[in-house]
Amino acid sequence: MDQSKIGAFIAEKRKAKKLTQAQLAEQLGITDRAVSKWETGKSLPDASLMLPLCALLGVTVNDLLSGEVVTVENYNEKTEKNLIEMVRQKEQADKRLLGFEVLIGVISTAFLLAMVAAGAAFMRMGQPMWIFWLLFGVGMAQFLVAMQFALRIEQVAGFYQCRACGHTYVPKYGSVFLAMHMGRTRYMKCPHCGRRTWQKKVLKKD
Ligand SMILES: [Zn+2]
Repeated sequence: MDQSKIGAFIAEKRKAKKLTQAQLAEQLGITDRAVSKWETGKSLPDASLMLPLCALLGVTVNDLLSGEVVTVENYNEKTEKNLIEMVRQKEQADKRLLGFEVLIGVISTAFLLAMVAAGAAFMRMGQPMWIFWLLFGVGMAQFLVAMQFALRIEQVAGFYQCRACGHTYVPKYGSVFLAMHMGRTRYMKCPHCGRRTWQKKVLKKD
């Protein structure tokens, strides 16, 4: 998807409707800064705003993502390209998220260990015990928050694939939270065949 082409298209259609950036933003319940970012190609409209935005501009979602009005002749080709491109962008975003998850894990573990080490050092210096527990508590609290964040990424980035039937899906947070795991492979019940197997994390949906 060509973000600057899409941006120019949004600007063109907005002006054709005699709307200012502020007026368009107000109708969508967002800031005019967001509209300006779309039009300069710095960002794409959120999926949740796609339909109301297209309705206001009088174009289809397909037109918007193509950055031009799609004619009947090139409709299928354009639609396909847009769909493929959206899947590709989600895959890349998921990959980045999963990398970020590893980073969160490393940093929060290091921070927890540093707090424990600092607490132990204070104790050796003859400081009261509560200092150790305070530092340990701070380390543990940030660790639990970080883990929850990481687990949330684990749930939404990419898919899990059932080993028994090959079904790929996004599980519920609860099942990810409770499942035994080895790395990113989790022991969960497949929503398709109902069997419990070690379900592998995959980026592509089959
Ligand atoms: Zn299955």
